[in-house]
Amino acid sequence: MAYRVTLIPGDGIGPEVVAAAVRVLGATGVEFDWDTQPAGATAIGEHGSVLPDRTLESIRRNKVAFKGPTETPVGTGHRSVNVEMRKRLDLYANLRPVKTLPGVESRYDNVDIVVVRENTEDLYSGLEHVVVPGVVESIKIITEKASTRIAKFAFEYAEANARRKVTAVHKANIMKLSDGLFLDCCRAVARHHPDVTYDEMIVDNTCMQLVLDPTRFDILLLENLYGDIVSDLCAGFIGGLGMAPGANIGVDTALFEAVHGSAPDIAGKNLANPIAVILSGAMMLDHLGEKKAAERVRHAVHAVLREGRKLTRDLGGTAGTTEIAEAIAARVAQP
Ligand code: NAD
Repeated sequence: MAYRVTLIPGDGIGPEVVAAAVRVLGATGVEFDWDTQPAGATAIGEHGSVLPDRTLESIRRNKVAFKGPTETPVGTGHRSVNVEMRKRLDLYANLRPVKTLPGVESRYDNVDIVVVRENTEDLYSGLEHVVVPGVVESIKIITEKASTRIAKFAFEYAEANARRKVTAVHKANIMKLSDGLFLDCCRAVARHHPDVTYDEMIVDNTCMQLVLDPTRFDILLLENLYGDIVSDLCAGFIGGLGMAPGANIGVDTALFEAVHGSAPDIAGKNLANPIAVILSGAMMLDHLGEKKAAERVRHAVHAVLREGRKLTRDLGGTAGTTEIAEAIAARVAQP
């Protein structure tokens, strides 16, 4: 039976990279019944909302969604669809594996980091107000419940995937109460997982240590804001945002999307690298229990990268989004 999955093309390069990934997923032979739904800036005109109710209802019904990036205006305008979606669907864990890919030139070899980011609170709660003109307050919410839940997710992921270490990243030297609570929760959870090494690092030092030698890190466990920033930093270790996949996971619902945004600078030009979204599709196949198909997609991506004949502009090549998708789909379809 076909898997019914909510499909959100999104804004900017979203429709292009999502179509590319759908093409590759189709080549696996796994059947999908795509339930296409609107979200993002492009949804406002027709549906009057960046996150129409029908889209949320579809995800609640199908329990699995595959999403392109959506645009959020800077400073003014609508709130982030992503923040809203993650909160409304309680997709509390943002899982972002960052692994060196063959044939891709980057400053480091053998990077294999998993970023586990809390997805529902912190400064992303959207609680901001003007106290008096010229003074604005932005409230950081950290709860025992959400911190414990994300720490459990990180340790359970470590055990299920034979990872050796979890590093909790914080700024508890300054934010003694909020980040202090986050660390207390991480330590309490760590005590129940003695086979996984646990350590802690202050976020600024973490960034410096990552840039010096990313291979010394395994799983990074972070609050929402630090996780957002460190994810993009880590994407730079493996060839950039066009290569970094991701998943947002809740109790019974999961939404798969790349780390990158809508890249308005290259939208509509067939220039976007679809690999991050294609690898997010492989994560979705794993989630659906289609492990063999997921491996075939990863092998096909590796094969095309290793050959090096078809690469998008961000990787130094001249191939377009659709060409890469066709090359990967052809590999997936090979027996
Ligand atoms: P971005 O990730 O869209 O782009 C940053 C840079 O990376 C740009 O130079 C872009 O061209 C490049 N890039 C990104 N993805 C690429 C790809 N697949 N192939 C080749 N190059 C790629 O980040 P931004 O410019 O800070 O944000 C643009 C918009 O995206 C904003 O409105 C932001 O809110 C939104 N955004 C959405 C998501 C999401 O929906 N999950 C995530 C991040 C940013």
